[in-house]
Amino acid sequence: MLNGKRALVTGSTSGIGLAMARALAGAGADVMLNGFGDVDVIEKTRQGLEGEFGVKAFYNGADLCRPDEIAAMMDAAAQKLGGIDILINNAGIQHTALIEDFPTEKWDAVIAINLTSAFHTTRLALPYMKQQNWGRIINTASAHGLVASVQKSAYVAAKHGIVGLTKVTALETAETGITANAICPGWVRTELVERQIEAKAKEGGISIEEAATNLVSDKHPSKQFVAPEQIGQTALFLCSDAASQMTGTTLSVDGGWTAQ
Ligand code: NAD
Repeated sequence: MLNGKRALVTGSTSGIGLAMARALAGAGADVMLNGFGDVDVIEKTRQGLEGEFGVKAFYNGADLCRPDEIAAMMDAAAQKLGGIDILINNAGIQHTALIEDFPTEKWDAVIAINLTSAFHTTRLALPYMKQQNWGRIINTASAHGLVASVQKSAYVAAKHGIVGLTKVTALETAETGITANAICPGWVRTELVERQIEAKAKEGGISIEEAATNLVSDKHPSKQFVAPEQIGQTALFLCSDAASQMTGTTLSVDGGWTAQ
């Protein structure tokens, strides 16, 4: 379905981003990975994608806090992949604290990685997509792009912001073959969430599994985590022809969280 398409997925060395990169590669797209982690593990992942799916896979370690590194990554993606058809803005970090205790450098980092980096990648990818009159921009927002929780001011602000950026991107590309949409996952058990589960276990003097159950049950009526692969398949659907008239929207994959 995506043979010949070229995809850049930010924050794809683990979790949801890796699952989305795997889904696209599984459908035949060449991919460029981005994110942090152990060099050997990342290289194994890259080679694994090539071996398992018969596509080309590259890696770029740009720090998305830095606009100069983002620009270099976009150049590298265009050169190595031969163009950019699919852009998934997925990298993200979390920090939890009350507003009055929120470290200002953490605020800046969350906004830079979770929101501003997507502005830079989008502005640099659009010329390629407009030239070929086809493109898919998929932003990983969150249930927190639609509703709020305490102690997550920077994250909630960034995720609401990326939903807004998605809508503007959609309007500015509406008469082209480009679409822009945001996926809004609920709880997905990745590194980012594991740290929050550990903190809750420590706080309540309970086991990790009990803390995980409490965390998910508090927000998801389904009482179940979302699997990273389910977000991967949602991204794949957004790349399909069936989704060519879906643009500027949010897709909740959240066990019913935001239906409440
Ligand atoms: P994760 O920690 O497994 O993945 C985050 C990725 O971002 C990693 O590849 C990491 O290396 C990369 N990253 C972090 N800082 C970076 C930087 N400065 N430059 C480049 N890459 C950087 O977490 P995840 O849960 O897979 O998160 C992926 C996205 O999904 C995030 O945007 C997150 O906000 C969003 N999300 C997650 C959940 C969840 O429950 N896990 C829910 C909703 C939304």
